Amino acid sequence: MFDFLAKKFGDLFELFSKETTFTDENTAKILDEIKAALIDSDVPYDVVVDFTRQVKQDLLGKKVLKNVRPDEQLLKIVYERLVKFMSQGGQDCFSFEIPSVVMVMGLQGAGKTTTIAKLVHFVKTQAEKKRKNRSILVASVDFYRPAAVEQLEIVAQQAAAVFYRAQEQNPVAAAMEIYQKFKKDRYDLLFLDTAGRLHFDEQMMQELQQINQKLLPRYKILVLDAMTGQQSLSIAQTFDQKVGFYASILTKMDSNASAGAALAFRYVLKKPIWFIGTGEKLPDLQEFVPDRIAQRMLNMGDMQTLIEKIDDKIHAAEQEKMNKALLSDAMSLEDFGLQIDMMNKVGSLSSLMKYIPGIANKLSAEQIDAGEREVKRFRAIISSMTPKERKDVTVLNDSRKQRIAVGSGTTVQDVLILLQRFEQVKQYAKLLKKSGPFGGLFR
Ligand code: GDP
Repeated sequence: MFDFLAKKFGDLFELFSKETTFTDENTAKILDEIKAALIDSDVPYDVVVDFTRQVKQDLLGKKVLKNVRPDEQLLKIVYERLVKFMSQGGQDCFSFEIPSVVMVMGLQGAGKTTTIAKLVHFVKTQAEKKRKNRSILVASVDFYRPAAVEQLEIVAQQAAAVFYRAQEQNPVAAAMEIYQKFKKDRYDLLFLDTAGRLHFDEQMMQELQQINQKLLPRYKILVLDAMTGQQSLSIAQTFDQKVGFYASILTKMDSNASAGAALAFRYVLKKPIWFIGTGEKLPDLQEFVPDRIAQRMLNMGDMQTLIEKIDDKIHAAEQEKMNKALLSDAMSLEDFGLQIDMMNKVGSLSSLMKYIPGIANKLSAEQIDAGEREVKRFRAIISSMTPKERKDVTVLNDSRKQRIAVGSGTTVQDVLILLQRFEQVKQYAKLLKKSGPFGGLFR
């Protein structure tokens, strides 16, 4: 997501790691490199100038700390500036008061319909964690794009929201009809999908203004496509002047241009970004938390998001069982196999690496690929074992190893590697047990 910028910053800090102190020359070079990295990430030029000017001030005002390496000091300065830049004018803290109408706006193709389904999924999942149930109504007044209403109906069902089709054909009258339905049936939330156009359009704005005046939605959210880069800024400014909006959601952040859009939007518009869309599926929505985003932009990893991802995908009871197994002396290959399954549930190895500090930049795509293939092989080998073999690896004699290799389509050498890795994991678990979970690991 932020790979491009992260790589650029990674190279920059690497370059600086050989320096022993800040000098006029290396400071100027650093500022030039930061400028180039941001411009290449599609950050608007005046934003880049502001950013580097502030980093320069921080660098000049900085007493060089004797015991801290200059590249580490620089990382800290850039990190803190990025966080400040992305926290301008208000909190990115997300919450919907109940009951509320949420009007979702944006150009056609920005991702409004998809994002509504993701929002429903998010709100419902959060509520379920607190053992609550949220009743959510979704409806559309987009009568211009063919099949827009049907598309919303399908995704609403996938996200387990109630879909309502207005009888009225005029968007403003339809919005009122939908609102009456929402009030009458006492839903907690109404997500209203509105019409977008390919480009800015006066009629579209007037329609939105009228719906806004009639419904007085508590929340107006602007959905912006991060891939449109700097153009998204002027789109946002127009929506703000004409209709006003409360917060935005940046979609398609899984694209490369995403860092520029996030930085520029936050700095120029000074409005919250509530979420970022990171794919086409329902769970591909992440809260926008400036310090975590800055960590990812700088390849510092993002353990908090990783832990939340794990929490979402794996139930607490499963985690507990696994932790117990991991920390017990009797960990078996059965547990090891389950651990692999759990990891697969959370995501691919390459998608998880990005969150782990210090690893993100160190492994090549080939190494990660090889790791992924190895994990798949391990799973196949474990599946070819009998329950007895999985419980107690000491029974594995040569003929059993041969049989397992044939059964799993691997080689005896692969079986031996698995046993070796399993032994390492057990040793590692022993270490963890001594220092506590995660103890000393990510310092
Ligand atoms: P709308 O016209 O604003 O309602 O846009 P849609 O919701 O129909 O989305 C347009 C296209 O963008 C669809 O193909 C979506 O699957 C895709 N899309 C939406 N959000 C994301 C995202 O965060 N990442 C990616 N990769 N695609 C997205």
